[in-house]
Amino acid sequence: MQLSLEKLNKFFKLESERGFDNRAVVGGLDKILPAWEAEARADGLPEEIIQTVLPCLRSYPELDPPARAASLRELWRSLQAKSAAQSNLNSLPDLNLAELPPSAARGEIEPSFPPRNGGDSHPPRAERSQALVNDIPHPRHRPQPHGRILPDGPVGLNAPLTVLSGIGPRHAQTLSQLGLHTLGDLLYFFPRRYDDFSQLKTISRLQYGEEVTVIGSVQSIVNRPLRGGQLQVTEAIITDGSGSLRVTWFNQPWLVNRLRPNTPVSLSGKIEQYLGRLVMNHPDWEQLDQELLHTNRIVPVYPLTANLNQRLVRRILHDTVSFWAPRIADFLPETIRREAGLIDLPNALRQIHFPDSVGQLEAARHRLAFDEIFLLQLGVLRQKLAWQSAAAQTFETPQEWLDAQINRLPFPLTEAQRRALAAVRQDLASGSPMNRLLQGDVGSGKTVIAALAIAMVARHGVQSALMAPTGILAEQHYRNLLTILAQGEGAPLQPAEIRLLVGDTPEAEKEDIRQGLAHGSIKLVVGTHALLEDPVTFQRLQLVVVDEQHRFGVSQRARLRSKGDNPHLLVMTATPIPRSLALTVYGDLDLTVMDEMPPGRQMVKTYVLSPRERERAYRLINAQISEGHQVFIIYPLVEQSTGDGELAAVEEYQRLQREVFPGYRVGLLHGRLKPEEKDEVMARFRDGHYHLLVSTSVVEVGVDVPNATVMLVEGANRFGLAQLHQFRGRVGRGNAQSFCLLIPDTEDAVENERLMVMAETNDGFVLAERDMQQRGPGEFLGTRQSGFSELRLANLTDVRLIEKAREQAQALFARDPGLQDPENQNLLSTLERFWSDGKGDIS
Ligand code: ADP
Ligand code: MG
Repeated sequence: MQLSLEKLNKFFKLESERGFDNRAVVGGLDKILPAWEAEARADGLPEEIIQTVLPCLRSYPELDPPARAASLRELWRSLQAKSAAQSNLNSLPDLNLAELPPSAARGEIEPSFPPRNGGDSHPPRAERSQALVNDIPHPRHRPQPHGRILPDGPVGLNAPLTVLSGIGPRHAQTLSQLGLHTLGDLLYFFPRRYDDFSQLKTISRLQYGEEVTVIGSVQSIVNRPLRGGQLQVTEAIITDGSGSLRVTWFNQPWLVNRLRPNTPVSLSGKIEQYLGRLVMNHPDWEQLDQELLHTNRIVPVYPLTANLNQRLVRRILHDTVSFWAPRIADFLPETIRREAGLIDLPNALRQIHFPDSVGQLEAARHRLAFDEIFLLQLGVLRQKLAWQSAAAQTFETPQEWLDAQINRLPFPLTEAQRRALAAVRQDLASGSPMNRLLQGDVGSGKTVIAALAIAMVARHGVQSALMAPTGILAEQHYRNLLTILAQGEGAPLQPAEIRLLVGDTPEAEKEDIRQGLAHGSIKLVVGTHALLEDPVTFQRLQLVVVDEQHRFGVSQRARLRSKGDNPHLLVMTATPIPRSLALTVYGDLDLTVMDEMPPGRQMVKTYVLSPRERERAYRLINAQISEGHQVFIIYPLVEQSTGDGELAAVEEYQRLQREVFPGYRVGLLHGRLKPEEKDEVMARFRDGHYHLLVSTSVVEVGVDVPNATVMLVEGANRFGLAQLHQFRGRVGRGNAQSFCLLIPDTEDAVENERLMVMAETNDGFVLAERDMQQRGPGEFLGTRQSGFSELRLANLTDVRLIEKAREQAQALFARDPGLQDPENQNLLSTLERFWSDGKGDIS
């Protein structure tokens, strides 16, 4: 036996006797590695064997004792097999190391992993660091978060990371900070970016400034102290036959032991200049005789936390991906892959981590992004099909009757309103429940559409409910609807048939309304979530309208809907959502966009001011108030959890009242007030009692105060463009010229630039599109639809990808509505996991 192998053998036995405490060598087993490596080379040990030993022992200290025992046993076995295959080596003796049961932390009772889907229960052992894979403990159950892709493999991908050798509890802990808990998480942990080191060049052809890989051998290497010994610089000369290149590293003096003269190396980095010569500073390097991972290829760069370095993460990913990716079952059936032109999943997972070329990387990205959108689309489409298959009451509306109703309005409808109305009329007559999202910018006139839909249903003597997110908004709708539906000649309803039910409606009146709804004498109830309170029952609820739907949770809307028997549903939103996003997120609803404003609206003049120009804003405000107008001043919610924003609003309110506008009445609105208190403040502002209203973002929702002409937003940089647009929509609702003033809280030029878009356009869709690009869809949609922030690759602004996924999803349901086909079983189970919290209804 070679001396170096004999030494290993001795260390292993000693460790075994000590219970694998990593104390057989002072300082730990991995400390002997550099010396051992040199010795093994001197021994003439084949490189293949050296490279089997090194990574395994390097990770040894990270493992817990049972895992250490297993890894040494495995390593020895593999060395036995390898040396048997080499003619110049003697065969290695057997080595009996102590058996340790897997520790409680790792293995829950069952020692071996049960095969699933009839898969191979003994996957072939991967050479090096996968040595422990066969000892995978039974995975502890971890509920899958909504919106994650978790394909099937021959073994469960939700096995904890500690089953991989090289990942002990410490690394597992660190990886968990990156949200990585399971094998599946690791496979779907995609690089943040890539360094393209695939450009291999000879030294003589190097050019200043390029990023390249150079392959050569070490001619010389020395350490030199720098700056009075504080720093060490390692200088090497690399030659490749065509020339030589000077390379330096800082503070890695140990490199002189790793990169001895004549070692063949691969170096990747940027070519720089020093004293007129080309040099490489701090390149990534690898010895040439191992599989190249960090150089001479397109190298993945992963997001990191403290305690993890890029090389380690890359190594872990490489081992995981090369072993597991080929063992993943592709959940997309062949048919869909072919029609959509997609590569298979194992390939995609391999290429997204370690691409062979830019083209392959693109193909991988495309495939994985398709998966995300496709699974979303399948979920919403399935929901839509389920709704469509239900029967609903049919409401036919004669054209003359509808025309008469339209003529009762004080204004002609816009084209967009006419289109929306036609769609609603058709839905109500279709026999299956309407599921329509009406999307229109603030002030585009959605309320009228809701009113006419209610009229069409009321004509048949049945009931409607309209739900708004706040009491003040409900009251505003109530007044409006009372005017449109119950006043003047030919009105479809009597005033007494329309009622308002909000939180502070007196109990006696509430009871009266409940009675009226249960008996059917009330035809329309307008209210807040108070409508959801259980005692409220309807005689025949046939139409549910939800305003500002993004303010409601999914379950709230479902609860209101359940008070009827498959009622028609109309949801309205003033949050303009880009079409591509709407197709995905609201794919279960039919979409109508009202992209036209009623005529005669004055554009709100928008200015971005620097904090130093605040006085100018105050002068404008003074002038507007003295002309009889009113003003909003908004402060950001800096930290929702600590309520800093509310404090800022409270403090600023006091300052403004005392020092800036002592002659005017100032109101204060913020999230800590009770709903009744908020409504009270809003009502006093609407009724003209306050000149100014200081508020946090709670004021955003569609309240109509036509006399307000100035919207001043402080800390404007903290808001998204779409939200600023909502604020701006609070003014310009009357006939007078209105102003929107945005003051960021620093003089930051970049922020000002971003805000300038507000001054350039009044189009909510343009702003939404920009906002989504700037903040990403997850942020844009907010927490209610947080499942969408799980999307890692798909760009929700990529209309072509979205339409392709949608076409495929539709075609699939047309072929196999229940996903019963054997070739779709894998897809079905992946779909169930993707939507695993059961929220099919996400709109
Ligand atoms: P939103 O879509 O933001 O809910 P509203 O329904 O509150 O908008 O309408 C905003 C204002 O525009 C209301 O005062 C409404 O009476 C008015 N309005 C609606 N449609 C028209 C129209 N076709 N012509 C003129 N004014 C209209
Ligand atoms: Mg509205």
